Amino acid sequence: MSTEIEATPESVARHYDSVTPFYEIIGSRSLHFGYWPQGDAGGSFGEAQQRFTDLLLGQLGSQAGQRVIDVGCGLGEPAIQLARSTGCKVEGITISPLQAAQAGKWANQLGMGGQTTFHRGDAMALPFPAESFDAAWAIESLFHMPDRAAVLRELARVLRPGGRMLIADIVLSADATPEDRSFLQRAFVARSFSTTEAYPALVRDAGFELEQLLDVRENVLPTFGAVASALREKEAEVRQAYSEDFLAGVQGQWARITEHALRCMGYIVLTAKRRPLEE
Ligand code: SAH
Repeated sequence: MSTEIEATPESVARHYDSVTPFYEIIGSRSLHFGYWPQGDAGGSFGEAQQRFTDLLLGQLGSQAGQRVIDVGCGLGEPAIQLARSTGCKVEGITISPLQAAQAGKWANQLGMGGQTTFHRGDAMALPFPAESFDAAWAIESLFHMPDRAAVLRELARVLRPGGRMLIADIVLSADATPEDRSFLQRAFVARSFSTTEAYPALVRDAGFELEQLLDVRENVLPTFGAVASALREKEAEVRQAYSEDFLAGVQGQWARITEHALRCMGYIVLTAKRRPLEE
């Protein structure tokens, strides 16, 4: 939640550096939406985030021995779960230096430091040679980035032919008003939102074969109610970690975000395969 007009890698990093404890208080160490299989709002936000991570793990389908890149790894929670549940090795990249350090520390605490590495880095220029990964995922990070097509091309470059990619991204419906768009861009520190319809061509043009494009809008929208409840339940903790003004500001801002998002926000989970190189 920020008042910046233009999201830059630096402003995105500052945003995450400042709000990290907040997300942990109201949800978990995962910095993504929750998932409700029937679209109803039962259970806590943290539990629903875990269900979403589980769904994404199943969709990526990585295996022991593989090397996976997590682009926009946050506090490392999804990457650590990926490494632990499959036996693969994960390299996480985040634009926030604080997150990279915290993710590494968390992985060590969980005894997962040998299978995970976290770096501060920019997804627009990934610090890896071509074809160095078997799989990649980017969970709720592409909307922050200066050029979605360029990042997808970077992912194609670092994946081996046949390597799988999973994208989870907020999208806006084509009839979102300019006000909805600019409000949500500021609120989510987003650089741009794509549409469900634009995604197939985006991934194909970057060098992928589309496998599946899931519209999970109805499954993630209960997040808005669940976060509002968590904000009420955790008021004392948020007040203590920040201030009364911060708490009141976030509650008001969340109500406004909800209003815009219910009108026009969608959410996609996409899987694709790096096209084999032409002979
Ligand atoms: N995928 C994680 C975090 C999502 S939050 C999770 O599900 O928990 C979005 C993440 O994208 C943050 O870690 C942020 O630092 C990262 N990010 C945003 N812009 C980036 C960029 N240009 N390069 C690398 N990471 C970026």
